[in-house]
Amino acid sequence: MATDYDASRRTEDEEKEESREARRLTSGEQDKTSGKVDEDETEVAESYELPGADLSHETLSIEVMPKQTDEFTCTSCFLVQHESRRSSPGADVCADCA
Ligand SMILES: [Zn+2]
Repeated sequence: MATDYDASRRTEDEEKEESREARRLTSGEQDKTSGKVDEDETEVAESYELPGADLSHETLSIEVMPKQTDEFTCTSCFLVQHESRRSSPGADVCADCA
């Protein structure tokens, strides 16, 4: 019974052919896999970077623009404005909000 089962399931020739086909499939799949891996990496990178990159860019855009000595923060719109846009001396309100 067992011998018949093994013989009907797989012969040596079939095993050799299968191994050859497997090697062909594997070699062929490697090219496909490399493309799939790139796509996966891109997808993973995008899904990973989207939330983090936005936050980091937001933080950077804020940190890159420190308030200069000739600038003030408007107490109304909270934007950093140049001294020339101060509505009146001593008042931290820009010309737009005055
Ligand atoms: Zn303002």
